[in-house]
This record gives sequence, structure tokens and C-alpha cells, in this order.
Amino acid sequence: MTEMSLASMSEIFDESKSKDIPFWRVILNTDIFERQVTEKQSYEKMSKMWSAMLSSDDNYRPELRSVSGLAGGDAAKYDEYIKSGDPICGPYISNVIKTALRVAESNACMRKIVAAPTAGACGVLPAVIIPMYRSGRIDEDEAIHSLYTASGIGSVIAFRASISGASGGCQAEIGTASAMAAGALTDLLHGNCEQIGNAVAMSIKNLLGLICDPVAGLVEIPCIKRNVIGAVNAICSAEMALAGIESRVPVDQVIDCMGDVGMRMPVEFRETALGGLAATQFGESVKEKMKSNRSI
Ligand code: SF4
Repeated sequence: MTEMSLASMSEIFDESKSKDIPFWRVILNTDIFERQVTEKQSYEKMSKMWSAMLSSDDNYRPELRSVSGLAGGDAAKYDEYIKSGDPICGPYISNVIKTALRVAESNACMRKIVAAPTAGACGVLPAVIIPMYRSGRIDEDEAIHSLYTASGIGSVIAFRASISGASGGCQAEIGTASAMAAGALTDLLHGNCEQIGNAVAMSIKNLLGLICDPVAGLVEIPCIKRNVIGAVNAICSAEMALAGIESRVPVDQVIDCMGDVGMRMPVEFRETALGGLAATQFGESVKEKMKSNRSI
């Protein structure tokens, strides 16, 4: 195995091209090298991650409510809308929206989820992969391969920028999750390395500057619905990349830019609940009620 630091997307592209192996295989090889495990051990671990991701969707319970009482039940409401109405989105995107809501609401209601890359953004990646798997468009092996691709992208962003709302704003959480999902989807749909890079770059660019402003410091509002936007943004970015549309700014430079924007972001917009939606009249009232421990 070759030693790889996952310090840049271009490094992964070079390895993929020189060895003539897919993106996901580069990340699998890196895991084998870094953790000194066998391919079977690495694969089993990722397989467990995939099972946990499926369970986070399967175990959704519409009757549950979050700590504040303000989150929960919306995924069920959306499911009813799909069944009874004529959604504007086709079946795939409708299921993506539903899955993102289910998993993100489950997180707010303290259910088990897979942080990808964080708990706040846990709904994005499963939202794009699970509906493809459940519709039979991809099999389990392909789903697991896409998780390797996603984790490689997340690792590069963690190394060059940030994956934490507290340090880089929501662009670093939902933005990174969206980039991971965009790259994974492009890989699943047989995109090449350049297309994966373009999908990642476009998905980050579209969410650049997004602040982290959770109401009352709880990962509920606006977090849950931002998972939906992260997932749909990932699909649009993957679609554009697969159509041959390029990001004029190279992907590693986009990631560096996101890191720079995050560092310059005022402290009020980095998970302190002092700015943005958290500082609205509504946000302040939730904070006060949470302080006095009253039900909302
Ligand atoms: S608003 Fe903050 S806490 Fe919520 S998902 Fe975004 S980064 Fe995470």
C-alpha cells in the first residue's frame, strides 16, 4: 500500500490515475495503510457504518419530540404529502427530502445516527445514498464504496479547512456533508475523478459563508431543514458535474477558501447561539424558556 495523507483532492486524483483504480479504492487502500488493517477488516468496519446508517432511517419514530419540543414529526408529515399529493419533485428527490428529515430529526430526538461528518449534518449523506439503494439502482457493495469516497472527501476538508460549525460555521458542517454526498453520488453514477472534484467544488461553493446559528444552541433549528438543502445541493452539484459542467475554481482552492471564510467568520456565527436565527426574537424566547426549563 502507498502512504497517502489525504491532504488534497488532487493527490487522490493522481493516485487514482497512476494506479488505474477508482477514487473509493484509493481511500480504502489509505485506510488499510493508516490503521494497519486488512482489506476485510476495513470493509467490515465500513459495512457496519452502512448498516448503522440504514438503521438511523429505519428507526425513525414520528411521535418523538426533541429536547425543546420544537423538532420531530416533520418527516412523517412530508411522507403523507408524498403519498396524498403530487409532489413537485420526482420520486428520488422526494425520498431524499424525506430521508434527510427522518435522520436529522432522529438526531434531534437523541436516536442513534452516523455522524457524517458531524451529528448536525448526519442526514445529508444517507439521504442521497439510501433512496438509490432502496430503489434497487445500486447494490450494497456500491453503497459501501460510496461511503469510502465520502469519507475521503471529508478527510481532505477536515485537513485543509474544517468540518465543525464551532470553528468554521455551518458551511463546514452541512457544506462538508453536501460535498461528501455530491462526490459519493458522482462516483456512484460512474463519474471520473475530475467530475467528482467538480461536484465537490460546486457543492461547497453553493453553501459558502453559511453561518452556524442554532436556536438556543440546540441542533434542531435550522439544522434539520439544512440537511435537506445539503442533500438536494449535492444532487444538483453531482448532476452538473456529470453533465460536464466544471467548477472554474479548482476543488482544493475552493476547500481552502471555505477554511479561510470560516476563520474570518465572527464568533456570533460559529455555534455560539449569539447571532443569526438564534438571535431573532423567536430564538431568544426559546433560549429563555430553555433556561427556565419550561416546556415550549
Ligand atoms: S447550524 Fe450549526 S449546529 Fe446546526 S447543522 Fe449547521 S453547523 Fe451544525
